[in-house]
Amino acid sequence: MLSQPLFAAILLGILSISVTAHYIDDSYSDYSEEVISNTGCNPLNNCLTPNCSCFGSVPLKGDTKRLPQFIVLTFDDAVTTLNIKTYRQLLNGRKNSNGCPATASFFVTHEYNDYEFVNELYKKGHDIAVHSITHESNTEMWKKAPLARWQEEMTGMRQILSKFGLIPLSEIQGQRVPFLQSAGDDTFAALKENGFIYDSSMPSRAFMDPPLWPYTLDYGYLQDCQIPPCPKSTYPGLWLFPMVQWKQTSKVGNTVVDFHCSMLDACTPYPTTEKETYAYMIDNFERHYTSNKAPFPVFLHEAWLRDENRFIAFLDAMGKKEDVFVVSIREVLEYMKNPVDVEQYKSQRKCFKDYRLQAGDCKPVTCNFKKRNIMMKSCIPCPKRYPWLGNPEGQIQQ
Ligand SMILES: [Zn+2]
Repeated sequence: MLSQPLFAAILLGILSISVTAHYIDDSYSDYSEEVISNTGCNPLNNCLTPNCSCFGSVPLKGDTKRLPQFIVLTFDDAVTTLNIKTYRQLLNGRKNSNGCPATASFFVTHEYNDYEFVNELYKKGHDIAVHSITHESNTEMWKKAPLARWQEEMTGMRQILSKFGLIPLSEIQGQRVPFLQSAGDDTFAALKENGFIYDSSMPSRAFMDPPLWPYTLDYGYLQDCQIPPCPKSTYPGLWLFPMVQWKQTSKVGNTVVDFHCSMLDACTPYPTTEKETYAYMIDNFERHYTSNKAPFPVFLHEAWLRDENRFIAFLDAMGKKEDVFVVSIREVLEYMKNPVDVEQYKSQRKCFKDYRLQAGDCKPVTCNFKKRNIMMKSCIPCPKRYPWLGNPEGQIQQ
C-alpha cells in the first residue's frame, strides 16, 4: 500500500508530465513543414530511397489516400511455453487482404527463451530481433554501458538466436534496448558497426499528431529525447522505427488528464472491459489512419493479452479493412525502400516471408545446465556451457 502523501506525489508527477507533454504536442502540430526544412535533409536530392529517408517525410509525397496503413505488432522478451500459446492463437492463420500472413516483430532476450519456438515464429514469417542477452534490471547500467557491452549484448544475442534457433544471421536485423534505456551514441555505434538495420527503442511524444514515419539517421536523431541520452552522431542507412506514443484520456477527480505511453500496456489506468479496450485502441489508431498513415505501433508484452480476448476484436475489425495490413517492422522498412500505392501493394502478392533466407530444421533438445540451475531448449545438440555474455555459443570452458 502507498501512503497517501506518496500517492499524491506520484499522481502530481504524472499530471505535471502530462500537462507539459500536451503543450509540446500543440507546438509541433505542423512539424511536417517547419521541422523538415531545418534538418538539411532533402528527399529529392541528398536523401534518396532505398537507403535514406528524411525525418518527417511521408512516402508518395504525402499522398495519404494512396498509402497502405500498417499496423505493427511487436512483443518483447523471451518466448516461452506460456506466451507461445497466445502468439499462436493471435496470429496463426491470420491473413491480410493481399493474401499474405499477418506478422509481428519479436524482440527476444536469452534467459528462459525457447529456441524451438523462435524457429517456429521465424518460419511463420515473423521478424526475429534482439533485446539483449541479460536484460539486466539496472537501468543506470544500460545508460552508462560502453560500446563493447552493447556489442556483447546485442551481437551476442543475434549469434545465440542464429546458432540455437537456426535463423540466418543476416535476417536478424533489429534491436530494442532493455527498458528503452539506451546509452545514446555507444548504443547506436555498436548497432551500425555490426551491420544491424534498425532500432526501435526511442519514444516520441512530440511527434504523435501527426505521427512520425520511420526515418534513417543520415541527418542524425531528430525527434524528441524522452529517455536521455539520445544519439548525437549521424548513422547513414540506419533506420529508426520510432515508438510513437499512445494516449489514454482519463478522469482524475474532476480533471480530464492525458496519460501517455510508449507501449500500450503501460498507459494507466488500464481499460477494464472489452468495450473500453476496443475504444482505447480505435482512438489511437484513428490518429494515424485519418492523418498521414504513419505505421500504427502496437507495442506490448504478451501478459496484457491474457485477460480474455481483449485485443482480438480490434485485429478482427482491422482485418476487414482493405487498406490495413498487420506486418512486422522489417516489412514496413522493405516497403519504405520502394513505396507503392495500396492497390499496387496488394496486387504484388509477394509475401515477405517467401523472399527471406530460410531457417534450418529444428531438432529440439532440452539442455540442462546444472551449475547454473537453468534449462534451455535448443534446435541443435547442447553446447558445453550455458551461452552467455562473452560466450554466446557456449563453447568456451569458463
Ligand atoms: Zn524487456
